Amino acid sequence: MSGDRQMRIVDPSTGSLLATVTASSAAEVDAAAERARVVHRSGTWSGLDPRERGETLLRLAAAMERDAELLARLDSEDGGKPVTDCITGDVPGAIEAIRWFSEAADKVYGRVAPTGRGALGFTTREPFGVVAAITPWNYPLAMAAWKIGPALAAGNCLLLKPAEATPRSALHVQEVAAEVGVPEGVLTVLPGHGDVAGAALSASPVVGALSFTGSTATGRRILESAARSNFKRVSLEMGGKSPQVLLDDALRYDDELFDDMVVAAFLSSGQNCTAGSRVLVHRSIAAAVVDRFVAAAEALRVGSPADPATQMGPLIDGAAYERVAAAVDEARAGGGTVLTGGHRLDSAPGAYFYAPTVVADPPLDADVWAAEVFGPVVAIRTFDTVDEAVDLANETSYGLAASLWTADLDRALDVSRRLEAGVVSVNSYSEGDITMPFGGWKQSGFGGTEKSLSAFDQWTREKMTWIHTR
Ligand code: ADP
Repeated sequence: MSGDRQMRIVDPSTGSLLATVTASSAAEVDAAAERARVVHRSGTWSGLDPRERGETLLRLAAAMERDAELLARLDSEDGGKPVTDCITGDVPGAIEAIRWFSEAADKVYGRVAPTGRGALGFTTREPFGVVAAITPWNYPLAMAAWKIGPALAAGNCLLLKPAEATPRSALHVQEVAAEVGVPEGVLTVLPGHGDVAGAALSASPVVGALSFTGSTATGRRILESAARSNFKRVSLEMGGKSPQVLLDDALRYDDELFDDMVVAAFLSSGQNCTAGSRVLVHRSIAAAVVDRFVAAAEALRVGSPADPATQMGPLIDGAAYERVAAAVDEARAGGGTVLTGGHRLDSAPGAYFYAPTVVADPPLDADVWAAEVFGPVVAIRTFDTVDEAVDLANETSYGLAASLWTADLDRALDVSRRLEAGVVSVNSYSEGDITMPFGGWKQSGFGGTEKSLSAFDQWTREKMTWIHTR
């Protein structure tokens, strides 16, 4: 409840209480912003040479590596994520992001204008001062790291609000940052409710830039609030309804195809903004694809996130279960065929495991096809022509990711160009690595991309200096 001062951190796999964490009030958020402004102006961080900031952040990455097991456990417990995914994916990815941006701290260049002789005009990339990040519960540490790395490397003081359900890994990073010498007030983690602490950050007149990852509905609220307050620069990474497009030669990728399809569909129980939740398959291979994909979905090991063998854990909470179950029921009622899954698995009260679910031929306007269900539910439809596949893939308000399977280079280039998605992966399900920007089109993304040097556009503003010479 947003009024509660003590947030109950509950293990989604058992429903049991893990911890309580005090929620930040709006007044506390405002006070933290004021403190950060003082720290920024003092120059203890912003005034360091970029390389010195980078060296401090390298120590942060090293300390996170030291504490990797703990960080993995915190995200796994809070978010119900398989601990193996956290150990092999989220945590190393987060450390890599901090390290990469540490090393990039002194590689952010300005420009020199081609003026005439009487002047020197140049631009520099300056921090905003106080900036904010609001992160989701599905990748708590990883999303925090994508924002902490470039925000701090650029010289800002960051206020980070983790999601209600998953604040503990970010709180640990804050402790570790202090330990390695990040000055107090440079990284402030403000656990709290979205409509209180999140709303206070969005409305703050002190916050110069805000980077958000979460749902499209919340992204819209944040942007409105920014416009009403101080026009802070807003970057939004939001929902998706990403297609996996299998052209008629896709089966040549054999096991690799099905392994990636399963990851695309069911990673984090499908609670993943880039989830490949729509499969579009050419009619000539549809029967074979459906058989093998359903078999692969049924072979997934669903269970306790703490068990290293587990591949899929629970949904985050009961509200998620209600949403997922309603979407599958709607598809069924509309004539879709549930090929596997479509029901809750035996779970403790207060825990919601849902079977990996594949629905064939749902109506085009059913949520499993048209909306972000955020659960382990994939919808499949067939197509006859490439044009039809592209139209179907693009018929959504989202545009985050897409994957495309074909060995034909000409078709791969043609279709990837026509897919309306920020991130297109060919013959894989991948967002690329930290060297690649990440961000969505249409109602999936707004205002900038994360990862790579592009991320600095979110966290720096350009200063134009004109020196008149005589
Ligand atoms: P979900 O529905 O998956 O929880 P949200 O977009 O609501 O996704 O949550 C993502 C993050 O946004 C969380 O940290 C949440 O607390 C925060 N949030 C939720 N509502 C608001 C709001 N009105 N203003 C700012 N942040 C919010």
